[in-house]
Amino acid sequence: MKKLRISGFILFISIFSFGIMITNCTKKDENTKNAEEKPSVVTTTGMIADAAKNIGGNLIDVTALMGAGVDPHLYKASAKDVDRLAKAQLILYGGLHLEGKMSDVLKKFGELKPTLAVAECIPEEKLLGGENQGLHDPHVWFDVALWMVAVDAVRDSLVSLLPEDAAAIEANYTEYVAKLAKLHVYMKEKTAEIPEDMRIMITAHDAFEYFGRAYGFEVKGLQGISTVSEAGTRDVQDLASYIAKKKVPAIFVESSVPKKNVEALQAAVHARGWDVEIGGELFSDAMGDSGTFEGTYVGMLTHNINTIAGALSKK
Ligand SMILES: [Zn+2]
Repeated sequence: MKKLRISGFILFISIFSFGIMITNCTKKDENTKNAEEKPSVVTTTGMIADAAKNIGGNLIDVTALMGAGVDPHLYKASAKDVDRLAKAQLILYGGLHLEGKMSDVLKKFGELKPTLAVAECIPEEKLLGGENQGLHDPHVWFDVALWMVAVDAVRDSLVSLLPEDAAAIEANYTEYVAKLAKLHVYMKEKTAEIPEDMRIMITAHDAFEYFGRAYGFEVKGLQGISTVSEAGTRDVQDLASYIAKKKVPAIFVESSVPKKNVEALQAAVHARGWDVEIGGELFSDAMGDSGTFEGTYVGMLTHNINTIAGALSKK
């Protein structure tokens, strides 16, 4: 019985392979490949997967290891992740220590197959941080124009993977970056709606420094550029005094960081006689649920700037 099933399976595979051969010979649709022959591209964050999916189109299979609400600083690779990485033809990750707990796994696979840290393709002089033990701020996706440099690197890596499909990849890339260029303009337009002295972003952790530099916000995070270290009581008190003094209307929670620290900050501000609102939830290090608008890079940033502009424009 078992043998029969196996032969049935082999027969199925043979028919299937024959099908692929026919498809290749007739070249019905050059942009469509059968699932069985599509190279597998594995990414860490959803933001990188979004770029790969848009640029690779249906030429590749893209899997993001980290879904909605997942904190990349704390994420450890599961056995299933290691299996997916082992089967991948290309691995794309953020780098700059974003995936701090996955460094060893990523390094190991980097010796075995094409593996690219997309943020590390951005010229060093454009990166923030670097003063503390040479660690740069990895949250580059919040400056859309800067993220486009990483997106270029995604395009290049896909062309290397599928050189015969370079033209299709280039066409998808052109379409995708046009959307990103439009998003960059939208971010600036929404920022202009906020009174200049209220362009102050206070969030759970320091994910928004590039955002602040690109769009003109003063940025303060409760935790540092990684969520690994906890915010101290002193930091909370200092920040609370600052918010009360400046009469900042709102502070923000993040989808991938527990809310308790921001709520403690809000309470400390109240104790100083100023009612600061929680202005909403921002997507910082992870996108929203897949299948929703916020589950795309454009949707994630659009949600953030709409939330920020709405909350900080209130007097
Ligand atoms: Zn972060």
